Parts: sequence; C-alpha cells; structure tokens
Amino acid sequence: MADNNNNNKQSGNNQPDKDNKTRPKFNVYWVYGLIALAFFGIQFLNMGGDPKEVSWGEFERIMLVSHDVKKIIVVNDERVEVFIKADKLQNDKYYQLLGGKENVPKIGPHFFFTIGTLETFEDNLREIQSKFKPEDKIMVSYDRRKDILGDVLSWLLPIVILVAVWLFIFRRMSGVGGGGGGSGGIFNIGKSKAKIFDSEESEVKTNFSNVAGLEEAKVEVMEIVDFLKNPTKYTNLGGKIPKGALLVGPPGTGKTLLAKAVAGEAHVPFFSMSGSDFVEMFVGVGASRVRDLFSQAKQKAPCIIFIDEIDAIGRARGRNPNFGSNDERENTLNQLLTEMDGFDTNSGVIILAATNRADILDRALMRAGRFDRQIHVELPDLNERRDIFKVHTQPLKMEKALDLEFLAKQTPGFSGADIANVCNEAALIAARQEKKEIQKQDFLDAVDRIVGGLEKKNKIISKDEKRTIAFHEAGHATVSWLLEHANPLIKVTIIPRGRALGAAWYLPEERQITTAEQMLDEMCSTLGGRAAEQLIFSKISTGALNDLEKVTKQALAMVAYFGMSDKIGNVSFFDSSGQGEYNFNKPYSEKTAEVIDHEVRNLIDVQYQRAIDILKENVNGLVRLSELLLEREVIFSEDLEDIFGKRKGERNIEPNDKA
Ligand code: ADP
Ligand code: ZN
Repeated sequence: MADNNNNNKQSGNNQPDKDNKTRPKFNVYWVYGLIALAFFGIQFLNMGGDPKEVSWGEFERIMLVSHDVKKIIVVNDERVEVFIKADKLQNDKYYQLLGGKENVPKIGPHFFFTIGTLETFEDNLREIQSKFKPEDKIMVSYDRRKDILGDVLSWLLPIVILVAVWLFIFRRMSGVGGGGGGSGGIFNIGKSKAKIFDSEESEVKTNFSNVAGLEEAKVEVMEIVDFLKNPTKYTNLGGKIPKGALLVGPPGTGKTLLAKAVAGEAHVPFFSMSGSDFVEMFVGVGASRVRDLFSQAKQKAPCIIFIDEIDAIGRARGRNPNFGSNDERENTLNQLLTEMDGFDTNSGVIILAATNRADILDRALMRAGRFDRQIHVELPDLNERRDIFKVHTQPLKMEKALDLEFLAKQTPGFSGADIANVCNEAALIAARQEKKEIQKQDFLDAVDRIVGGLEKKNKIISKDEKRTIAFHEAGHATVSWLLEHANPLIKVTIIPRGRALGAAWYLPEERQITTAEQMLDEMCSTLGGRAAEQLIFSKISTGALNDLEKVTKQALAMVAYFGMSDKIGNVSFFDSSGQGEYNFNKPYSEKTAEVIDHEVRNLIDVQYQRAIDILKENVNGLVRLSELLLEREVIFSEDLEDIFGKRKGERNIEPNDKA
C-alpha cells in the first residue's frame, strides 16, 4: 500500500526537466495561429469589400451595354467574374449596387454571377455583342482555379488529427497526462517513474516513533540505518554492507511505513516505486526503467530504493510452460538482478522491497548479495494493536476514559492499516452525530462497519424472511455456544449490513496452530445456520451460501492439505510455491481424487448431523434466542449466557494478554 504523504511529489528525473524548460516545444496552437494569420492577410489585401453577386439581367443592362466592362473571366465553367473599368467604377450606380463607396473592392473582380451552362452564356454574350463595334467587344478568358484552402485542409486535417492522437497516446503512456510521476511527455517512456523524497522540504518525515509494534522488524531495520549512517564502521573491518532486504508480510502491516522510517531515520533520499510501475505495454521499457532508477539512485547515494509489490516483476521465471512465459517481465527482472550485482556493495544504495508472498519470488532474487535478508512483518498481536491505536488516536479528540486495550481486544486480525482506518472512521461517525469528542461506541461502530460494511436499516425484508434470518443466526449462535472449541461469540445481529442479511460475530482466537477438533467445531457452528432452518421450518434457503462455501473449503483443506483424514493419511497436496494454480493436472490420481471428494462430503455430512442433533436437544433455547433476536435485532453474549448458562469451554480469550 503506497503511503500518501507525498504532497511534495517530485519528478524523478531532473535532467530532462531542465531541458524542457529551455527547448521550445512543438505546439499545436502554432498551426491555428498561422491559419488565422493567413486568413487575416487575405482579408487585408482585399480591403474595401467583397465582389457582389449580380443577375445576368443586371450585368447586361447596367454594365455590358454601357461598355463599362474591362474583362470577364469564367472560372471553372460556372462562375463569371466581372471587372469594371476603373474610371467607370466611380459612379453612383455602382456605389448603389455595392452598398456604398467604401465597399468597392480595390482590385477586381467587382461582380460575379453564376451560369447554367457555358454554351448558353457564350451564345447570349455573342448575341448582345454582335451589335457592338469591334473595338468595344470584350473577350472572355477562362480560368481553372483550385480551392486552395479546401485542398490544403483536406490533406492537412487528417495529419493534424493523427499527430494529435499520437501525442495524446504517448502522453498517457508516459504517465504525464494521467498524473503520474514522469515528466517531459513522449521522450520519457523509458525513464523510471519513481517518487523521490530528497530535498529539504520533501525529506521523509516518518521515523520509528510512527511505527508501532513490529519490534523484531525494527531491530533488523535499525541495522540498515546504521549501515547508511556509518558505513566505514563496517567496511573498515572488511565487512560488506548488504544490498537489499525483503519485507515480507500481509498487506497493510506497515511495510511501506517501515521503509520510509528507515529513510527518515537515516536522513537519506528515498526512491519509492511499485513493481507494477515497471511493466508497460512496450518491450524493453521495464528494463530501461530499472536502469534509469539505478543510475539516478547512484547519483544520490547514500539512499534507499523502495520497490513495493515486487512480485509484479519478481515472480519465478519461466516455470510454467503451460501459459508461456512473460518475456517482458523476465527482461525486467533480469535487468534488476544485473543492476543489483553491478553496483559496488559500498556505494551506499540499499534496496528495500515489499511483498506479501516471498514464496513465489524468483530464487535468484534471494541469493546472497541481492535480497539476502528477509524481514517478516506480521499482523499485529494484542499489545501491538494497542500501540498502533495509541499512534493513530494521537491526533484525535477522544473521551478521556477510552480504554485502548479494550479496542485492541475487539480487533483481532486487523492490520495496522485497518486500525488507522477504524480511527478515522470513528472520528467521522462522531462528527456526523455532532459530538464534541469521540466515544467508545463510535469506535465500535467503526469496527463493525469495517468488518461488515454499511448498515442498511431500510433494506426491505419481509416478516417471513426476517424470521428465517433470525433462526439462521440463532442456529450459528447456539451451536457455537455449546461447542467447546468453537470461537467465542460476541454478538448476533439481524440488521442487514453490506451484503449480509445478518451476522454472528466471533472473536477469533489468536493462535498459530489449529487442532482438528477446533476445525470440526467451527465447521459445525458454521453449518448451524442451515441446520436451524431445516429443523424449524423443514425447508432450507439460499441464505447459507457463504456458510457452505466456507465449510467446503475448510473440509477440503483438512483432507487435502492438513492430512487430517484417515483415508488419505498424512499426505498434503498443498503447493507453497504458488505455481500449482496454473497447472491443469492435479498432483494425484483419479482414484485419490475420488477418495478426497468422498472424504470431504463425509466430513461435512457428519458435522451437519451433529449440528442438527445439538439444536434438537436445545430447541427451546434456540426458539427463545430467535424470539429475542426478532425483538431486539442485536443480542450479546450475556443474553446467550442467560439462556444456555455459562459456556462449557470458557477459556481465557487471550491467554497471553495477562502475562
Ligand atoms: P503495506 O505497505 O504493508 O501494505 P503500509 O505501510 O502502506 O502497508 O501501511 C498503510 C498504513 O497503515 C500506514 O500508512 C499507517 O498509517 C498504517 N500502519 C500500518 N502498520 C502500522 C504500524 N505498525 N504502526 C502504525 N501505523 C501503521
Ligand atoms: Zn450463516
């Protein structure tokens, strides 16, 4: 996830930038200007007015018969231009015809008219002139003219359009029009699009105090800061400074934040780029961007290059012949490897890269001398979540009594980014209710909203549907309450939220391994919804789609991945390299496939029956719970305790939080 405090966005390439300011750029507006100028020029030459159209009759009566005509030109066999003798022009009858003395054209033609056919025109003229004296007869000249402007436009316009389209596309591709980081238009497609933070005002302000938790990662990363600050301490003893470190972890856990903090602590420039920025539709662009990035970085050394989502280019090369390999991506990766080998270890450029899947990266990237360190960034545990809350509630106005520990307990499985989101959302919710300070309830609402989406109070749901939903959710709640190993329930609602019509909220335990019993109990309570519908109404609905999907996946995982089925045994078909997704053939035989299918079905059937049995035994409680749910829409674990008594396996929710 890219960070967003890059208001001081700077172009990554200063050199071309300077050039551009001095080099006159070709500009389409010049063409318009020239055309306009030509237009005005023509107008100017013709000053005094345009030739006026007259009829054949007027021409004959007023001009021809009085021997005023100097010459006649027939243009393109259709238009006749009439030139009047200069001395005859100074006459009231012409002023009248032309609409005033000032409108008399300086140079001819003064009048024109159009003719039907050339023959009739010539016949008419000959007939009239036949009575003229020979020296008064005027000769007709002929002219073929081209419409120059029209012709020019007809071939210029397509070219102009083509050039415009071409410019537009290139601008878009090099990211200038689209607001990317590059500069200078079409010439910069091969330049890196890295964002750079280096000058005084854009220096990275993030430091380790902005990063909560992640203690182990911080220790490792602290070393890098030290390398950058005092390289001689290490090189004096003959040691080599590492070139790169890979930050591995789920999205939103603060990998970008950590990399920035390193740059901020070491006070060095920070180049930030996403792996997908290298990829472009042109062959060779990725590799050229890598080259450009490194050459820029070397000029600014010591510095940090951060490549987010490196898996976009760093996936293992050519291992799946099925789909053909992506040559362009491989070239980019090869270039990256070459660059990393190419520069001297002591040049002070350290490359940090982030990914959420280290296992699919090319082995060559992880070789010593490249990303030889892996720093794992995990989802925060209870204490870390509390610390992250502390960081993000700092700028908020909250009620004094707010217990961050409590908030941390309500947000298992949340990443740092989620928590930042909760804090912001809580502030918005409180503001919407015109509160002076943010209260606990606002935070809880924000958590609900982030987990489940927006509450949809006015979604239209019929009474029958509401009843079905209530029994379905009560089924989940009842079964999970009565099973020892299921996740502890926090609350059940039948208020539609996001796309769900109702929900049972659990507090998942934070555990690293899960036992078979826990998985089975969870499957059983997931099936509890449909089981309740079946038991009470003797009919089932589509409302269990999500439940069924979840259960099926879980059952398949138990059988095919975790070796939890007797018939399959301790065999796992899990493929941690991520390559299996593209394979057409399964790594097991048809016979095994059948057994797997059978085992999955069997697991689910057994758990479904178990859920039905539990509900049958406790049908009174189930009905009471559903009625309560219909009445109040939200119920909490206390209400379940009232109905069913204390939970059997009531455990300490987070055994390690007391320590
Ligand atoms: P990633 O790069 O791992 O996807 P980011 O570093 O972009 O995640 O994190 C996104 C945001 O989440 C950060 O800007 C920060 O506000 C918040 N965040 C994540 N982890 C932490 C943490 N450990 N401490 C404080 N804030 C965090
Ligand atoms: Zn359900």
